[in-house]
Amino acid sequence: MPSILADGWKADAYWLEGLPVFADDGAVLPASVDVVIIGAGYTGLNAGLELVRGGRSTLVLDAEVPGWGCSTRNGGQISTSIKPSLKKLTRKYGHSKAKAIRDIGKHALDWIEERIASEQIDCNFQRCGRFHGAHTPKHFDALAQQAQQLRQHEGIDAEIIPRHEQHHELGTDAYFGGVVFPHHASLDPAKYHQGLLRAAVAAGVLIKGHCPATKITKTASGFAVQTPKATIAAKEVIVATNGYTGTITPWLKRRVIPIGSYIIATEPLPRALMDRLFPKDRIISDTRKVVYYFRPSPDRKRVLFGGRVSANETDPAISAPRLFADMCRMFPDLHAYQITHSWMGKVAYSFDELPHIGTHNGIHYAMGYCGSGISSASYLGMRIGQKILGQDRAALDGLAFPTRPLYSGKPWFLPPLVAFYRWRDRAQCRKAMRFK
Ligand SMILES: Cc1cc2nc3c(=O)[nH]c(=O)nc-3n(C[C@H](O)[C@H](O)[C@H](O)COP(=O)(O)OP(=O)(O)OC[C@H]3O[C@@H](n4cnc5c(N)ncnc54)[C@H](O)[C@@H]3O)c2cc1C
Repeated sequence: MPSILADGWKADAYWLEGLPVFADDGAVLPASVDVVIIGAGYTGLNAGLELVRGGRSTLVLDAEVPGWGCSTRNGGQISTSIKPSLKKLTRKYGHSKAKAIRDIGKHALDWIEERIASEQIDCNFQRCGRFHGAHTPKHFDALAQQAQQLRQHEGIDAEIIPRHEQHHELGTDAYFGGVVFPHHASLDPAKYHQGLLRAAVAAGVLIKGHCPATKITKTASGFAVQTPKATIAAKEVIVATNGYTGTITPWLKRRVIPIGSYIIATEPLPRALMDRLFPKDRIISDTRKVVYYFRPSPDRKRVLFGGRVSANETDPAISAPRLFADMCRMFPDLHAYQITHSWMGKVAYSFDELPHIGTHNGIHYAMGYCGSGISSASYLGMRIGQKILGQDRAALDGLAFPTRPLYSGKPWFLPPLVAFYRWRDRAQCRKAMRFK
């Protein structure tokens, strides 16, 4: 049997193929700036752009090449990002706060479209719509009910697609119908990141890669941010490290749960096959607890298929055949093709499934996007920049950022939890297929 991995396959994101690496080796570190931002992904760069345009000298540090984190390796799917429902948030915060939190997701989606247009970033952004598939008939009924509530109470477009019409959306029988969110969008995440980098440099943000912040100390005039190359004095510090939040900010590390997410890219496929599998070019996700998310590449030649296929974190060489097997269960025609790229990155979950923006001991942060950070990281990065400039507060600002007793940042509970949820998802699918 031929290998499912193509000769010369890469353990690297498909998006990075042919993209020039950002060269900042010559950049000299200043002795002091108004703001140091730690992390050069969507959060850090959008905060930086806002700050320099507001007249603050700003340095963005990254431990690796800028963009090395999730911001060049994600699935490129943009939704309204806030996971807890309006009902659940209302129970906790009351209706008006709950509505304001939910609205952030909608604002973020509209805002990122404007940001991309105003910065003239060529990143294949399109309002392609999402098909959210139900993996059992029971989940379809729940989805249909939720869609009705979203339309009625939040003005969110959500179209119910019964199983017999599913092939107009997606060439598979693996789902029991689903819901289409026509406003959800897709982009090329690495091109978006690169466009942000260019805009930030052009606006005057200083960006230094391969330069980890190793210590943050409070001083009389602000902070001293230590790196292996120099110590920088800053009036303000923003931590924008999301799933890579480390020991220099232990308070934040205790509040985010780093979780690996994995993607494969197929070799180029025949046009007719792509047209049958993805007739409307939608992005796809589903109702499984351990969700699959997939889509056509922007040139409509490949399938990019993502999910979580092991209880423990694993190597892209090991995740590739497992994701391939799961993809082929959904699309049996893909058995005949190979994988050219397999990669992973670490997203950050929070214990209340909300993103968090705020200030602790004088240090600003925005993180915890729960796997949906393209628009929310961008938007909340911008908002944390605005906050330092003394402008508007976001509805999420100041929400308690919960942790759990004995949690220090190493999610020991994750492997058994993922194993259980994967087992339950599969059992539900098997049962549903037997009775279809
Ligand atoms: C496989 C995968 C698929 C995903 N798919 C989607 C999707 O389809 N849609 C969606 O909306 N979201 C998706 N996400 C999530 C999304 O990519 C992230 O939420 C978003 O990119 C977070 O951006 P960020 O700038 O906050 O963090 P990141 O882009 O992760 O950047 C954090 C940076 O901090 C740096 N850093 C850490 N510690 C230090 C230090 N001490 N000093 C200096 N630098 C440091 C790291 O090197 C890193 O570059 C996905 C993520 C993954 C991994």
